[in-house]
This record gives sequence, C-alpha cells and structure tokens, in this order.
Amino acid sequence: MSYVSDVLNAVIAKNPAQPEFHQAAKEVLESIACVVEDNPKYKKNAILERIVEPDRQIMFRVPWVDDGGNIRVNRGFRVQFNNAIGPYKGGLRLHPSVNLGIIKFLGFEQIFKNSLTGLPIGGAKGGSDFDPKGKSDNEVFRFCQSFMSELFKYIGADTDVPAGDIGTGGREIGYMYGTYKKLTGLYEGVLTGKGLTYGGSLARTEATGYGLVYLTEEMLKNAGKSLAGMTVTVSGSGNVAIYAVQKATELGAKVVTMSDSNGWIYDKNGIDLKAVKEIKEVNRGRLSDYAKYRPDAEYHTTGSVWSVKCDIAFPCATQNELNLSDAATLVKNKVLAVAEGANMPTYPDAADYLIEKGVLYAPGKAANAGGVATSALEMSQNSQRLSWTFAEVDAKLKNIMINIFGQMNENAERYGKKNNFVLGANVAGFIKVAEAMLAQGPQ
Ligand code: NDP
Repeated sequence: MSYVSDVLNAVIAKNPAQPEFHQAAKEVLESIACVVEDNPKYKKNAILERIVEPDRQIMFRVPWVDDGGNIRVNRGFRVQFNNAIGPYKGGLRLHPSVNLGIIKFLGFEQIFKNSLTGLPIGGAKGGSDFDPKGKSDNEVFRFCQSFMSELFKYIGADTDVPAGDIGTGGREIGYMYGTYKKLTGLYEGVLTGKGLTYGGSLARTEATGYGLVYLTEEMLKNAGKSLAGMTVTVSGSGNVAIYAVQKATELGAKVVTMSDSNGWIYDKNGIDLKAVKEIKEVNRGRLSDYAKYRPDAEYHTTGSVWSVKCDIAFPCATQNELNLSDAATLVKNKVLAVAEGANMPTYPDAADYLIEKGVLYAPGKAANAGGVATSALEMSQNSQRLSWTFAEVDAKLKNIMINIFGQMNENAERYGKKNNFVLGANVAGFIKVAEAMLAQGPQ
C-alpha cells in the first residue's frame, strides 16, 4: 500500500464516526500524493502522520440559563490543528449539527486555506452545538459568556485567534470579546470579525463573499471570459451568500437564487438584495418572506437551487449540499464554473464529475479564503493600533485572491493537471506548511 493510503487508513481507524474529517483528509492527501512521491523527505519525516493529528483538541461543557430560568448544557470545541506557519486561526461555528468530526474537518481544511492566503496564520476551528436561532439576545449573551469563560484559557492574540462562522456573527463576536476582555483585562486582537467601534476591520463582513467573486472573475479571465452578463445561482443567505450576491451583481452578473435551511427562492429578474438583507440581517427571519417584497418570485421547499439553469454556481450554505445528481444537472445546463463560498459544499464524487466534464471548479479552501485573509489583515491593524480604509483592505483582499488563483493554477499545470484546482490548491497550501514543519524538527 502507498504511504498516502496507509495514513488514510490510520485516520479512519483512529477517528471513528467522523465521516466529514475522513472526507476532508482523503481529498487533501490523495491530491498531494504526487508531491509526496516527488519528495521522500516528507515520508521520512512523517509529515502526513503529523499533519492529520491536531496539536490539541479541547472539548468542554457550556452551561447557560435560558429565559425561563432552566439550565441548558451545550458542548464547546476548539481544535488547534497546526501552527507551523503562524498562530492558530479559524472560526467558531454555532449550529446544532456541530460535533468533533465536523470541527476537525473544518480545522484540517483551515491549515491549507490559511497557507494559501500567503499570510502567517495556522489552522484551527471551534464552535458548539448551540443553536442561536430562536433564542433571545439575552440567551445568546449568556451562552457566549459561558462559552468564552472556558475558551479564554486557550486563546490569545499571538496564540489562537478565533473568528465567526455559521451562526457566529457580529453579535456573538461582540459578546465573546466583552467576556474575554473582562476575564483577562487585555484589550487585544484575540477575535476577528469585531465591530468597527472596537477594533474590527472595514471590509471584513464583505470579505468572504467579495473574495469568492474576485477569485471567480480571475478564473474566468484566465479562460477568456468574465462574469458580466452571466446568470448565477447561489445557495445560502448568510454572510458569505449575501456579499457574493452583492459583488457578482456589481460586476454585471444576474443572481437568480438564494436559500436557507427551510427553502429557496428563484427570482428570474435578479435577487433584490435589499429585501434579503432586511429579512436576514435586520429581522433574522426566513426567506419565505421574500414573496412579500417580490410577489413574482418563486419560493420552494423541495428540490434545490442547483436545478435552475445558470452559467456560474456559488454554493455558500454548508458542507455536502451539492451532490452528484446536482452536478449532473448543472453540467446538463451547461454550467461554466462552480466556486465554493462554503466549506466542502460539494460531495467528492460530484467534484470529480465537474472536473472531468471540464467545469471550472474552485474548491472552498481557495475560493472562500478571502474571509480568513481579511481576518489576518484585522490582526495586523490591531497589532499596529491602526485602521485602514475600506478601499485599502478591499484592494489587499483582491490581490490576495488573484494570487491564490495564480498559485492553484500554476501548481495544477506543474503536475500536468491543467484546471484541476483541487490538486493545485492542496499542493500549494501543503508545501508551505510541510516545509515549515520540516524546518522546525519532529515536534
Ligand atoms: P451564516 O450563518 O451567516 O449563513 C449560513 C447560511 O447557510 C444560512 O442561509 C443558513 O440557513 C444556511 N445553512 C446553514 N446550515 C445549513 C444546513 N444544514 N442546510 C441548509 N442550509 C444551511 O454562515 P456563513 O455565511 O458565515 O457561512 C456559510 C459557509 O461559508 C459555511 O460553510 C462557512 O464555514 C463558510 N465560510 C464562512 C466564512 C465567513 O467569513 N463567514 C469564511 C469561509 C468560509 P439558515 O439561516 O436557515 O440556518
């Protein structure tokens, strides 16, 4: 058996019941097999065995009191995966589906994503199975305070800097930051995605969605095309989806779908983003309300946005939301590109199929890296006690995304797999981390 399959078998044996982590490890390790074969030093120094094992995994009880006076208990997680190239960095997910396997898949992906940004940040992820939906502000506050009263022991501006993710937006980051400050007495850049009045960066809110669109535009440019005039389908209606829709529309595309966990909308005239923002960001409501703003739009509770004909598809909701049959429909409808705003939204067989059919497929670890890259820019501003203008941050973000496309394109070609951006992104992300690990010795 090969080195890669030996390591993958050990991952499965040692981490039972963590299918998402197995899926992420398989995708990365199989696509870097070419590099590992070319470089025997990686096997000799057990780089793969080390890279699939987190530095540490922290799990803790999060008790909080609901508005009825009942004590509720959730589970908290922080997986610090790898800090070979910089302090741990990665978001906190608050969603009932959260478990250790999901946090490990996200933390593992984060290592390579953070490396691709070219910035000095290591990989981590955390969160809880707490569901902020349907909770009052006071309940969310009490949860965040309890969560941070344990997490604060393990994080710091130069050790581990968490951020937002699904279910963790500006409100949750604010409550957690306040608690950290109170417990430690430190006013430091320990979290990113902070509000603008207390150390947040302009353009951080927009960064993941904008970055996705910048990378896609570069990928299309490389193929002699552009977003202008294209029809786009988007899934999700959260932070990533909203700003992807905004930037794609600005660049002349027409976005016709969005979704949430209850259903999806199809607006053939182009999504009214002002309406979606009001529903989601102001009212914390459901997309079913969209019909109140646009009576002509369709709302569906079955099927998916991938059945709608489009040139470009942006999955921006969650993992494993685009399957093989969706990919076949997209190909039948002549999709040109699929770029992932979410982490691992496409099933592996669906991703392979898209690549085989010549669709330009940009994996999340490259396409959505604009969020963490801008978080790293927030860290820089906090360290310097400065804040840059929106235009400055946006320009840096755009450069970073163009550079990420360049790296994944170059590495795909280098290994004879033109336009296989999964291979290109994984190889580029891996080499930098592996070389840093080698330089730092067998620790
Ligand atoms: P939000 O919580 O703001 O939005 C998530 C969206 O996806 C909501 O519309 C939500 O619907 C929907 N959704 C979540 N889970 C499910 C599910 N199980 N089934 C169907 N729909 C679902 O999160 P973000 O926009 O921040 O994150 C979206 C994705 O992007 C995630 O994969 C995240 O890891 C990734 N990402 C985010 C970054 C960021 O900067 N925010 C950076 C890089 C990646 P509902 O409201 O009904 O729950």
